[in-house]
Amino acid sequence: MVFKVTAATGAESSGLYRRPRMMLRPRRVEDIPTILAKTKSYPTPVRAVGADYSQARCVGGDGGTVVDMGGFDKILEFGDGFVRAQAGVRVGALVRALTERGLELPLTPEIGNISLGALAMATLPQASFEPGMAQMSSCVIELKLVTPQGKQMVVTEQDRELMRVLRSSFGLLGIVHEVVLRVVQMQAVKIDYRVYSIEDFIRQFNSVMKSSGALRLHLAPFNDRVTVERRTVDAAKTTTRSGMWQIRNSVMRNVLPAFGSSVGSVLSGPGLRSAVLSGVHRALNATQTPASRGVVMFAHEWLRELPAESWKARFTHSLWAFSADSYPRVLKEYFAFCRGYYKEHKYRPNVVTAASRLHRDRGALFSPSYDGTMMTLEPSSDGEKGWADFLIDFNDFSSRLGGVPTFNQTRALKTEHVSKAFGERVRLFRALRQRTDPLNRLHNSYFASLLGST
Ligand SMILES: Cc1cc2nc3c(=O)[nH]c(=O)nc-3n(C[C@H](O)[C@H](O)[C@H](O)COP(=O)(O)OP(=O)(O)OC[C@H]3O[C@@H](n4cnc5c(N)ncnc54)[C@H](O)[C@@H]3O)c2cc1C
Repeated sequence: MVFKVTAATGAESSGLYRRPRMMLRPRRVEDIPTILAKTKSYPTPVRAVGADYSQARCVGGDGGTVVDMGGFDKILEFGDGFVRAQAGVRVGALVRALTERGLELPLTPEIGNISLGALAMATLPQASFEPGMAQMSSCVIELKLVTPQGKQMVVTEQDRELMRVLRSSFGLLGIVHEVVLRVVQMQAVKIDYRVYSIEDFIRQFNSVMKSSGALRLHLAPFNDRVTVERRTVDAAKTTTRSGMWQIRNSVMRNVLPAFGSSVGSVLSGPGLRSAVLSGVHRALNATQTPASRGVVMFAHEWLRELPAESWKARFTHSLWAFSADSYPRVLKEYFAFCRGYYKEHKYRPNVVTAASRLHRDRGALFSPSYDGTMMTLEPSSDGEKGWADFLIDFNDFSSRLGGVPTFNQTRALKTEHVSKAFGERVRLFRALRQRTDPLNRLHNSYFASLLGST
């Protein structure tokens, strides 16, 4: 039997129009085909929701039925090289359970709140170590889902093309209730920081891009500074564990929390703005002290939890990706854009902009690094007045420079941004949807406007 709940309070406070007629929280797989079949009892569109932290309207209730997958919260099996879990499990809980077994996912996000259903179906790019694994859904090797017609399906990596489409399908081709993820042995990661002036960074860009490991940048357009954080696997564990804890505490408290991943940890506290800004200053200073160099940690140690009420956090982050070749120009123009915007509107995002290198990854149709190595721009804010308008102009800026957005982490997108970035891939996805969901049971107005109606 399905369980009815009311719409989440505060949904509008984050600027997202939701308004489903009803929210359901099923616990049994058999309930999902029932919901999909009964169009009178459960109005269209039927939209799955995981943890509900997406920054865009991709869940979008539209007077229909939102299916909260939070009741599917069991980790089912730890196998040889894989873990099987239900779609409502949060990635943070999964990562912690893997850690107890000396295991980890091939990629670990900085946010623990993400549900496994969204991890499989939405775009979650991460600073990557190697080609083919630059977003979370590429860790998924099997999916169990219910199609719009209520049919239960199992899809594995062997169905490569189908998997590629599903991994970018945002609940538009079916509702996922179980996923299997690849796991690997836990490895220590060495983290180095280096601070460049923007001019130096651009001059040395090609050599920075040749470095191995995962690259995360922290950009300070008003100080003309770029801090490069490089994560490399540390097979030799060059720092002792006890030494590591001291350093780790210093970095986790002073450096990482101030960059991007920071937003959640400071959101609920008083004096947010000054806390964020002074955190950034502390962080930039800390990167120049010896304590911040050569830190060794395990991936689960950079996981952070956003505030439990998702509407408080989901308004605070946006993301575009750019081809690595164009990035020096993009960065220079981004710094100029931020300064120009401030001059004209007296507004600047009050948290540092982060960026990640994404190796080429064709595991998902709407992967931002589908065509090659990309670098992102990820401005963050505490959601203060001016942020929403800033993002509208930032989107046009990014699209003009050939940027690729996401449907769940890029706010205020326009149809032309999407068609310019994805072109033929949008047409392919639309045609597929027409065949698999002719009655538009899973389709909402957000995707109708961005991908075109079916
Ligand atoms: C401040 C902030 C910073 C962030 N930083 C990062 C970051 O650095 N890296 C990162 O990877 N993420 C980051 N995120 C998270 C990111 O925004 C994700 O978009 C989000 O959390 C997705 O997970 P969710 O469970 O909340 O998805 P939801 O918002 O619940 O859903 C996302 C999409 O997936 C679909 N979906 C969900 N579950 C299912 C299912 N079972 N079956 C079918 N479809 C489903 C939904 O319909 C929707 O279209 C950040 C978020 C915030 C708010």
